[in-house]
Amino acid sequence: MTIAAHTLGCKLNFAETSDTLRRLAAAGHTIVEWDTEADLYIINTCTVTAVAEKKCRTAIHQAHRRNPKAQIVVMGCFAQVAASDIEHIPGVTLVLGNDRKHLLPEIVGSGQWAVGSEAAAPKPPSTLNFQPSTFHLQYSSGDRTRTFFKIQDGCDYFCTYCAIPFARGRSHSATIEETLCMARRIADEGAREVVLTGVNTGTFGQQRGESFLDLLRGLDAIEGIERYRISSIEPNLLTDDIIDFVAHSRAFLPHFHIPLQAGSDHVLSLMHRRYDTALYRAKLESIKAVMPDACIAADIMAGFNGENEEEFRKTLDFVDALPISYLHVFTYSDRPGTAALRLGEKVPIPVRHEHTARLLELSEQKHQAFIQSQLGKTRPVLWESKKVDKSIGPDTLSTHQPVNVTTFMEGWTDNYIRLCRPYDAALVNSVTPETVEPANLVRDAI
Ligand code: SF4
Repeated sequence: MTIAAHTLGCKLNFAETSDTLRRLAAAGHTIVEWDTEADLYIINTCTVTAVAEKKCRTAIHQAHRRNPKAQIVVMGCFAQVAASDIEHIPGVTLVLGNDRKHLLPEIVGSGQWAVGSEAAAPKPPSTLNFQPSTFHLQYSSGDRTRTFFKIQDGCDYFCTYCAIPFARGRSHSATIEETLCMARRIADEGAREVVLTGVNTGTFGQQRGESFLDLLRGLDAIEGIERYRISSIEPNLLTDDIIDFVAHSRAFLPHFHIPLQAGSDHVLSLMHRRYDTALYRAKLESIKAVMPDACIAADIMAGFNGENEEEFRKTLDFVDALPISYLHVFTYSDRPGTAALRLGEKVPIPVRHEHTARLLELSEQKHQAFIQSQLGKTRPVLWESKKVDKSIGPDTLSTHQPVNVTTFMEGWTDNYIRLCRPYDAALVNSVTPETVEPANLVRDAI
């Protein structure tokens, strides 16, 4: 049958969807674009904000409109926490929580669905009691030069604003040996860059008495993989040993994504984050001492409880003073079941949006400053396969002059600056040294 998928949310979801589609394609099904008619639509959902949940509902309605006879499978985090609501949305055939979504290829292969018929398909029971007893290593492939490799899932931290522990369960992962075995398979398939993804990546192995650093050491020794990025790591888990290891490793890149959420200790304590601003600052200083050109991204939340103008000013000043390269900005929204619902000091919604806008503006300034600091430096770039047509020459609208349309390729430096160059098929999936210059910058990329 023809299958189309839509992924919302994080890189973890991206890895899971890609892995599922690869297994369905191997079973003989045809993967088609999301916006085309298909027999089966898969929506891998997110519950991190109310906006993400709204997008999930919109995607379900889109799929049902496109082909009212199609089967629609809704899986992932929103499916986990709102299964009984989603089941009743017109067109939905099956809701798979996070503990069962990896079984989708087997469920499709069981032949129990009358795909394309008007008869209602049988609905296997939804997962409402999530027992995260097993972990499934998954990775993306084929659709990007970089491979997103899921090495960990779930979280034990229960930050007061976050529904993820309810959707993905406690922290769990495979053993180091199993994870390295899968990484060798990824290397054999030709991946040059691997992004290690997870919900709380630094807790890898904790339930088994293994350490994240030992995993990094094992991965660094795998031949064939030239570059690794750690998609995100909590500041309290980013030890000096890990920083030192990355600085001197063969393949780990000087690129960190370290959630901050707020630059006010009062707000951080209301969030139940496990660090304060002093610890966060110390981690960034440690990184820059050994990797002065490192790119450092930070998640930040606008409008959480207690974020009055004075506390928000502390966040702006804190971010401004630190060597942060850019921000991922989220607007706080109430999530069902979280402790934040019982906290006082709510921020009015218009103020949340105003704070969001000011943080986005600050992020842009930080990003421009980071790129300026890299101009003239030569960095290794991994070139991607995608072709991008760009107009070179006079503006036709104003001058009516002919333009040259040239096909470009794009790639990322080790410290996460997006560059471009004229397309050369021989360079796809290879790494070359490039000097960062205004002429080869892709300006709108983060
Ligand atoms: S560390 Fe906090 S924000 Fe991150 S997934 Fe865990 S509970 Fe959510």
